[in-house]
Amino acid sequence: MDPDLQPPPPRAALHRAEHAAALLRLIDWLAGAAGDLLALAVPVDCICCGAEDRTLCPSCGSRIRHLTRRPFRAESGAPALMDVAGTVMLPVVAAGVYRDELAQGLLSFKRHGQHQLGRSLGRALGAAVRAAAHEGTGILLIPVPTSTAAYVNRGFSPVHVLLKEAAPQLQGLTVADVLAKTSAPGPLLGHNGPGGQKGLGRGARSQRVRGSMQVKSGARAKVAGRACIIIDDVLTTGYTIGEAARALHLAGAQVRGAVVLAATRPPAAGGPGAPASPTHGSDHDLEKNKPGKDE
Ligand SMILES: [Zn+2]
Repeated sequence: MDPDLQPPPPRAALHRAEHAAALLRLIDWLAGAAGDLLALAVPVDCICCGAEDRTLCPSCGSRIRHLTRRPFRAESGAPALMDVAGTVMLPVVAAGVYRDELAQGLLSFKRHGQHQLGRSLGRALGAAVRAAAHEGTGILLIPVPTSTAAYVNRGFSPVHVLLKEAAPQLQGLTVADVLAKTSAPGPLLGHNGPGGQKGLGRGARSQRVRGSMQVKSGARAKVAGRACIIIDDVLTTGYTIGEAARALHLAGAQVRGAVVLAATRPPAAGGPGAPASPTHGSDHDLEKNKPGKDE
């Protein structure tokens, strides 16, 4: 065959693309590092109200404590964690609603990782974990992994740092960093199997995250048969937490539920008094609030 008709070896082009991506990552990282240095050099103001000298002033700190004083069950606001009949597939406890000082604080912490702020948010997360785990011991706390890009940008994983800050409240519980993002998303399925055509938006979105996480090779024995609680910062649709649960199930773990610092939707009609424990909560309150859009 005429060698000119052969497609050129893709190697060189691939190489260039890899170099370009690495360079972009480096630039992002440098920008992040410069921001951190700037934050050290310039006097910092309260991230919520702008009061001088402290990343979090006492009054905004107390607002965060107030906003997270009563952890609540949050899964009914997350479509991926409820089935179409309104049954809870995975209970989630949230420390507070994602709004006001809590939202501002978390955003700023994720961007800049201020230590003072981390302590305040970590305490709130710790209290929610305590509410979810009760007196239970031996439960593994599994942080949802940060995407590689986000980690490279920030240089830290917010959830891991918050869990470290919460450590004094987590006695008897073990943080197990066993989940990893997979580089390639799972195979795109044409349909979800029997009865899978309802809720097209939901199906399409769940397919996008399906297979995006797995238990690290070598860590399966660590979680097999163990009670686990998944930890993340924010609950929105629940797809990420659902995916973490799927990966843990595949490795033989018993997923009890999840805990987040903040949920984007406020507690359902039961109000902030709704029980916070995944193991002791009643499904009746949730039954009344089953999502109607897929029916
Ligand atoms: Zn303030």
